[in-house]
Amino acid sequence: MAAENIAVTRETFDNVILPVYAPAQFVPVKGKGSRVWDQQGKEYIDFSGGIAVTALGHCHPALVETLKRQGETLWHTSNVFTNEPALRLATKLIAATFADRVFFGNSGAEANEAAFKLARYYACKKHSPFKSKIIAFHNAFHGRTLFTVSVGGQPKYSNGFGPKPADIVHVPFNDLAAVKAVIDDHTCAIVVEPIQGEGGVMPATPEFMQGLRALCDEHNALLVLDEVQSGMGRSGKLFSYEHYGIQPDILTTAKALGGGFPVSAMLTTHEIASVMAPGVHGTTYGGNPLACAIAETALDIINTPAVLAGVEARRQQFTDALRALDSELDIFSEIRGKGLLMGAVLKPEHASKARDILNAAAAEGVMILTAGSDVIRFVPSLVITPEEIDAGMTRFAAALRRVIAA
Ligand SMILES: *Cc1c(COP(=O)(O)O)cnc(C)c1O
Repeated sequence: MAAENIAVTRETFDNVILPVYAPAQFVPVKGKGSRVWDQQGKEYIDFSGGIAVTALGHCHPALVETLKRQGETLWHTSNVFTNEPALRLATKLIAATFADRVFFGNSGAEANEAAFKLARYYACKKHSPFKSKIIAFHNAFHGRTLFTVSVGGQPKYSNGFGPKPADIVHVPFNDLAAVKAVIDDHTCAIVVEPIQGEGGVMPATPEFMQGLRALCDEHNALLVLDEVQSGMGRSGKLFSYEHYGIQPDILTTAKALGGGFPVSAMLTTHEIASVMAPGVHGTTYGGNPLACAIAETALDIINTPAVLAGVEARRQQFTDALRALDSELDIFSEIRGKGLLMGAVLKPEHASKARDILNAAAAEGVMILTAGSDVIRFVPSLVITPEEIDAGMTRFAAALRRVIAA
C-alpha cells in the first residue's frame, strides 16, 4: 500500500522546512527532458538543471531504466562489502581521466571534505605535520560542511559557526601573483574551481591554471580541482581541466555525476592514494550500488562525442539569444562561462535585479538561476533541444522586459 497522501502546498514549506532556502512560489511535481510541470499543471522550461545536476534532463529513459533494474536488484551493502556497480563506475572514471583511485561519497561537500582531508593527510605522512596550509580563493564555493565552507571564499557562509579549521588562506581568483605571495613549503594544497560556479560563473584563465600547477610542483603541494559543478560534460569536455592542458592531483565531481541521483566521487593518483589505509576515512552510503549504477549509466551517455560535442552548439544558441536580448535592452555587461555553464552579468544599473528576474522568469514559465546578486546563471541539460532553448528564451525575454519596465 502506498503512503497516505496528505495535501501539501508551497505554504507547507514555511511551516515544516528549516528556513535555509527561499524556494520559488510553485511546487514542481513532474519533469520530462527539459520541461517541468507544477501542482497547477503549468509548464516550465528548465534552464536551471537542478543546479547543474540533471545533465540529461528529467527522467531520462536510460537512467529510469537503470534505477528500476538496480532498484529490483541491490540497493545498499555498506562498505563492509564492495559491489559491482561501484567497481565498474570507478574503472570507467579512471579510464576517462588522469586518476588511478576513486572514493565515492553522496554530495559535493563530502567529496571535497575527503579531498581536503586527503591533501592534509598526504602532506602529514609524506612531508611534515606542519605542511597544512590550504590556499583557496575569494568567492569560491566548495560545499556546506564546516571544513568546506571554511575553504570556500564567502565568509557569509562560514561565519557564526564557531572556530573554523585553521591554516586556510584566501586570495583573489585569477591572480597568480597573489598566490605566489602566500605559497610556501608549508602549503599542502591549492584548491580551485576551474570555473567558479556559485561565485559568479567565472572561468580560470589558462595562465592562471597553468601557473597554479607550476607553483604546486615547485612547493610539493597538491592541486585540488573542485569540478563538482564544472565537470561531467558541463564545459564541453568530460572534465574542464582538459581545456587547460594540465592535470590535477585530486579532483572532485558530484552534481551531474548521478544525473539527479545523489552521488559524488573524489579522484586521485595511486601515489597520493597510497597513504590511505582502512579506517582513515569513510562513509556509510558512499559507493552504494544504486547510486553507482545510475552514475555509470549517466557517464556512459555523457562521455560520448555526440553529447560532448553538442554542448558547444547549444551554448552558441544560448549566447546568440542573450546577445540579441542585450542589443534590445542594453542590460548585460558580459556573457561568460564555458560550455553550458553560462553567466549573463547584469550592468551595474541593473545589478540588484537578478532575484527579480528569476521570479519574473518563473512566472513566465522558465526556470533559471542566479550566481551572486548580479549574474543570471544558465546550467541546462546537456541534451536540451533547440526547440526547448528557443521556447525558454522567448519566455526569458518576456520576463526581462517586464522587470526592466517595472
Ligand atoms: C554545488 C557545489 C558544491 C557542493 O555540493 P553539494 O552536493 O551541495 O554538497 C561544491 N563545490 C562546487 C563547485 C559546487 O558547485
